[in-house]
Amino acid sequence: MIILVINCGSSSIKYQLLDMKNEEVYDLMAKGLVEKIGLPDANITHKPTGREPVNIQVSIPDHQVGMKLVLDTLVNPEYGVLKNFDDIEAVGHRIVQGADFFSGSAIVDEDVLRKIEICCDFAPLHNPAHLLGIRAVSQVLPSVPQVVTFDTAFHQTMQPYAYMYALPWEYYEKYRIRRYGAHGTSHEYVSRRGAKLAGIDINNSRIITCHLGNGSSITAIKDGKCVDTTMGFTPLEGMIMGTRCGNIDASIVPYLMKKENLSPDEMTAVLNKKSGFLGLSGRSSDLRDMNAAALEGDVKAKIVLKKLTYDTIKNVGGFISELNGVDLIVFTAGIGENNARLRRRICENLSYLGVRIDEEANINAAKTGETIISAPDSSVKVAMIPTNEELVIARDTMRLASELED
Ligand code: ADP
Repeated sequence: MIILVINCGSSSIKYQLLDMKNEEVYDLMAKGLVEKIGLPDANITHKPTGREPVNIQVSIPDHQVGMKLVLDTLVNPEYGVLKNFDDIEAVGHRIVQGADFFSGSAIVDEDVLRKIEICCDFAPLHNPAHLLGIRAVSQVLPSVPQVVTFDTAFHQTMQPYAYMYALPWEYYEKYRIRRYGAHGTSHEYVSRRGAKLAGIDINNSRIITCHLGNGSSITAIKDGKCVDTTMGFTPLEGMIMGTRCGNIDASIVPYLMKKENLSPDEMTAVLNKKSGFLGLSGRSSDLRDMNAAALEGDVKAKIVLKKLTYDTIKNVGGFISELNGVDLIVFTAGIGENNARLRRRICENLSYLGVRIDEEANINAAKTGETIISAPDSSVKVAMIPTNEELVIARDTMRLASELED
């Protein structure tokens, strides 16, 4: 089944075209990125598998034009990978926020669209863009089934004591204020892959997954189900990130708003866009720049690196207590996959538990691909698993679209 996976951002469309032979076996036919929608230098980068990538600068005023461009590119006689649009059998979309409406993926219909719309309040940058993407596909491919996969769905198994804030109950009832988590598709994928690689039965397991990228979250998983995660009402809660502050004392927010005369939107931008590695270092949101700056002796960059390690250790340690032990720890995403030093530091702090790292496997993990990086005598398995959210979306899309046909 040929499936188009779409990840619509506020000014971008990421796509992958996968030929799914079955749940496990698939060919990636092409992938690409439409960037800077609505700006003068809008462009598309298209990478057909096994061939040279192409980049085209073209006017892309809105998502509908962007989506049409993706489809036209996929059937282009020169660099396309399909004969015509009809070869696409289903389309899967990544949706950032599904609140407590969705505990799994869903076929798009009017009711689903209405619920995604309600969730726009909680993800104002993402959900409206996702809706634009779904509507644009409906225009161009009206008879193709569309499926939505939510970053929040995996976390719906959290219990009230984990997802409730200790705020007046009425705000939960009135505004649905509670913890929803994020990166759920990634946490689910890497926990399952990791368990398989480590020879652990997912249905009888205690796993901690560390998704460390521009956005970072850590999740505690018992018997394959999420019991807690570090992100909350929005993807701001938790640990230090590229531009997000993570946990801070909530009273800092009104205090700063008064002192600096900031509007709610301006304060939101400080917390989400001007904090984290960028805010502390004053240099960059990218960890590679922090590493380079720390090597030059930059004190603030060194604090960023220490804080990243510290926040990770603190959350992993808390979740080990919550799970009453741990069988497997998984690292994933840009930092988790590439930063061997951070992985080693975390594991060193778990030596009291008997965690031992295989330094060679750890150093080579980014090159090797998914790897067990713990030593054979380690009491806990540790793995590096590259995340693959698109594959989960494609699998769910294949499953739900096939059920429609039955
Ligand atoms: P996003 O959350 O946007 O998907 P990623 O998962 O791509 O982000 O993670 C981006 C982070 O990963 C950046 O801080 C970047 O510095 C880091 N990163 C990416 N590649 C490497 C690398 N080779 N070595 C160290 N850090 C890396």
